[in-house]
Amino acid sequence: MAFTRPRGTRDFLPEEMARRRYVEGVMREVFESFGYGEVQTPTFESLELITAKSGEDIRRHLYHFKDKAERDLALRPELTAPVMRLYINELKRSPKPVKVYYIGNCFRYEEPQSGRYREFWQAGVELIGPPHEEAEAEVVALAMATLERLGLEGFEVHIGHIGVLRRILEDGGVREEDQNPVMNAIDKGEEAALKGLLEKLQVPEESRSVLLTILELEGPSREVLGKARALLAGRTGVLEELERFERVLCALGFFGVEGYRVDLGIARGLDYYTGTVFEIYAPRLGAQKQICGGGSYSLTETLGGAPVPTCGFAFGFDRVLLALEAEGRKLGGDKGPKALVVPAGKDLLGEAIRVAASLRKSLPCEVDLMKRKLVKALGYADSRGIPLVVIIGEEELAKGCVLVRDMKTGAQRDVKVEDLGSIKVHE
Ligand code: AMP
Repeated sequence: MAFTRPRGTRDFLPEEMARRRYVEGVMREVFESFGYGEVQTPTFESLELITAKSGEDIRRHLYHFKDKAERDLALRPELTAPVMRLYINELKRSPKPVKVYYIGNCFRYEEPQSGRYREFWQAGVELIGPPHEEAEAEVVALAMATLERLGLEGFEVHIGHIGVLRRILEDGGVREEDQNPVMNAIDKGEEAALKGLLEKLQVPEESRSVLLTILELEGPSREVLGKARALLAGRTGVLEELERFERVLCALGFFGVEGYRVDLGIARGLDYYTGTVFEIYAPRLGAQKQICGGGSYSLTETLGGAPVPTCGFAFGFDRVLLALEAEGRKLGGDKGPKALVVPAGKDLLGEAIRVAASLRKSLPCEVDLMKRKLVKALGYADSRGIPLVVIIGEEELAKGCVLVRDMKTGAQRDVKVEDLGSIKVHE
């Protein structure tokens, strides 16, 4: 019986891993250039941690299980809650701001399709401490800087403010826990469900209509803010939230960020978001076009810590990769061996291994371990695109040399074993 992968999971072959590692490397570099340090948390956590303020959608798609001691555990569906737990356990007394990033696998029991998997990777940051709008702006700027460094061209940034939406609901008499299903329906674009919920929660007609109108506001910043201000005239609490949002957008200017769209219809599917929320789309990816989501949130108190301002984002790592590939971006150089060391004679494999060990100090190389004929070994080097073949023969060895063959031109020359360190590959 042959085994297959569990549904919704993937195997990654060396070429793809090289591309993934390259993208990871660029992300790390950009995150670190903004002062973020990498953290790693366990792949599974307590079910309670994962479900605290996580949102209906996350709970529905959870992989959860009991361990042998009957503990309820869950595979992490995202990393913000685990990282907040880590902050409370390990970093809460550290000087502020605390700036951390992560790259890790996540698990959701969703219906697999292109760009949607049951095991996928997120790369994200959390910024903990600063209560100012500039912090929220920094995470948006960082997400955009990362995509720019990766060379992604076709991406759209939509920024909204969940505080505005929550405050409209609050003024309409809706408590926080009842606001969450409303946010979920908005996030999913389920209009009928949303209207039904507002009806059920007996939200007054006026608040209802303000909410439904504001959700439709999307476009360039000045235009949308003008319309929102007019719509919210006289609603002091909501206007205060809108002003907070305007300060975030103003701070984005300091980071040189432009070209985004203001979209007051963004709600995000997780219950912990509070203020600025943003999503980045790569339209080429079709249905699963969202490559990043983030904003400001409040989670530490729910997890038993002290309140502290927090914001961050998570890239859907796999989707960023798909978006880059869809644009034909070259992701990193060729990582394969640059030379194949071939013993040209039965008893020369040991010598070939010795030569390869010294060559490897300057050039990634592989020894032909198959003990096959030279022509076959050359064919193998050709099929793998290995540019040099180092032939170990009796005659050459007697002169203290090896034969180096350039696979592109077919030219061969003797090289002293001690000079092998200086051979170059002409690509
Ligand atoms: P979320 O934690 O739901 O805000 O998701 C953050 C990002 O992770 C999204 O913008 C997606 O790019 C990505 N993502 C979420 N679920 C999946 C999935 N099942 N497969 C691949 N990527 C996903």
